[in-house]
Amino acid sequence: MAKKQFKAESKRLLDLMINSIYTHKEIFLRELISNASDAIDKSYYQSLVNENIEFNKDDFFIRIEADKENRTLTITDRGIGMTKEELENNIGTIAKSGSLEFRNENEAKEGVDIIGQFGVGFYSAFMVSDMVTVISKAFGSDQAYKWKSKGSDGYTIEPCEKEAEGTEIILKIKENTEDDKYDEFLEEYQLKSLVKKYSDFIKYPIKMLLKKSRLKEGTEDEYEDYYEDEVLNSMVPIWRKNKNELKPEDYDAFYLDKHFGYEKPLKAIHTSADGITSYNMILYIPAKAPYDFYTKEFEKGLELYSNGVMIMKKCSDLLPDYFSFVQGLVDSPDFSLNISRELLQHDRQLKFIAKKVKDKVKSELLLMLKNDPEKYEEFYKNFGKQLKFGVYSNWGANKEVLQDLLMFYSSAEKKLVSLESYVSRMKEEQKYIYYASGESIERIEKLPQTEMVADKGYEILYFTDEVDEFAIKVLMQYQEKEFKSVSGNLEPEANDKESDDKTEENKELFDFMKEILDGKIKEVKASKRLKSHPVCLTSEGELSIEMEKVLNMMPDNQNVKADKILEINTNHEMFGAINKAFAEDKEKVRMFTNLLYNQALLIEGLPVEDPVQFANDMCRLMK
Ligand code: ADP
Repeated sequence: MAKKQFKAESKRLLDLMINSIYTHKEIFLRELISNASDAIDKSYYQSLVNENIEFNKDDFFIRIEADKENRTLTITDRGIGMTKEELENNIGTIAKSGSLEFRNENEAKEGVDIIGQFGVGFYSAFMVSDMVTVISKAFGSDQAYKWKSKGSDGYTIEPCEKEAEGTEIILKIKENTEDDKYDEFLEEYQLKSLVKKYSDFIKYPIKMLLKKSRLKEGTEDEYEDYYEDEVLNSMVPIWRKNKNELKPEDYDAFYLDKHFGYEKPLKAIHTSADGITSYNMILYIPAKAPYDFYTKEFEKGLELYSNGVMIMKKCSDLLPDYFSFVQGLVDSPDFSLNISRELLQHDRQLKFIAKKVKDKVKSELLLMLKNDPEKYEEFYKNFGKQLKFGVYSNWGANKEVLQDLLMFYSSAEKKLVSLESYVSRMKEEQKYIYYASGESIERIEKLPQTEMVADKGYEILYFTDEVDEFAIKVLMQYQEKEFKSVSGNLEPEANDKESDDKTEENKELFDFMKEILDGKIKEVKASKRLKSHPVCLTSEGELSIEMEKVLNMMPDNQNVKADKILEINTNHEMFGAINKAFAEDKEKVRMFTNLLYNQALLIEGLPVEDPVQFANDMCRLMK
């Protein structure tokens, strides 16, 4: 029989897993049980929606069998099974293909991280086995198939005999090594404790035939061994349990078991209601954004159950886009089992529950912001961008929901602050919420444009995300306070007559400078905001310089331009020099103007159009 090769990526992953650390290896059992449970879910679902199919409820169980002599561990289910093609496609390759490429080589070498991160499921069997055999008969099929592999050298598939539909996975457990005691995976006590630890909430019974001892009949002190099936798990799904019975560890374990994320969640939210629409739900705020979160591949959604039966793995209608990071599940007896995806979208109950999800997530996040700001900050570092996109998208339709959840770095507090806390610190006469945009906090801190506002003792919010200014333009105001850029028009608070006069006084010079700059700027004027710095660029109108930068980075950029103003600090020494030159040497004014303009560009983080000319001009000055 021809041996088939694993896809290259699967092979690499296999190598990583086989060499993973020992404590990680035990999760193989959780993975195989969880696959078996999913497979039973699928048959169970079929039996409920399809009247022609009869299932015996007693068949819905998972069996674990250890054979010490032959060193095999077998996990059996009467689930949906796999066809030959499915065996090939589902376990001959890795479903989440491409996932490995995301990781850099260093991380890949550590291996452990990858296993946790991608929950590579079935493959984990190779961490403890020399050989894995999968015998499966698909639901509704007459032929069973045997898939066999010793690991990275490939696999074989051949037809075989199997009576019942479902899957049997036989692991040939590795021999002990100095470091790794694989024997344990054949021990009853160890298997029992692993099931308790990782798979207690699986809703089908996980059975194992256990050796027990009893008093021999007719005797008083003679004992005999006998075997009896024992159910190892408690089977109550965690979301049906009473909150008081559950510890944070239980929620964490469930989260990891479900592969909602690869490290402990930041927060678990467990809530239920009985009423016209009843539901139980467990929602999680992950601690980290998944690797593909900010890509098109990311799929949002919650698991949807109807009375404990899963009807959808990712129900996207339950989550608004701005909360797409939320993981978890909703179970409600009010959903019909065979509701189609299209119908579901219009389902009244679903809409009702979606609103509950939204409200609950929001209120829990607000509580976190209030009671545990450090934790909230951690959350915000991962998902804040998503909230800001949420404010911006749909023309601000959700800004009311989201505005209290926003945070920005504050010049006064030197950390992220909420808008509410900013407003609470505003000075009596302060009219606006001020912000400054730039690439980084360090750069904004040095922006000359902030001088006047900072001098008045006003706090400034630093916008470093591309989306920030767009979101704020949509938000417009918070608690009736308008937002204002320190680089925008500062009227009327900088009602500085002196600067107006200076602009008027130097009109001829400024017009000349504008001419030199030939359409690159709209105006040259005396600055009202500069104190010590000589020059800066500001903008007028809706489009700021930062927004111009962002828009021009977009693939379909229209080459938009902000209306730029070159502001000159007329109190700066340099201004005396340029004024003098204006009277004596126009060529020098040209050089000065270009130098000033280029400096202003550099300060803004914009490219200098002719760096060679700029460098030459600098050298001419040095002479
Ligand atoms: P995941 O479970 O995350 O999809 P796995 O590698 O664990 O990844 O499994 C790959 C696929 O193989 C599953 O999605 C399922 O289609 C199939 N599979 C695995 N185990 C079983 C089983 N016991 N019964 C039926 N199908 C299974």
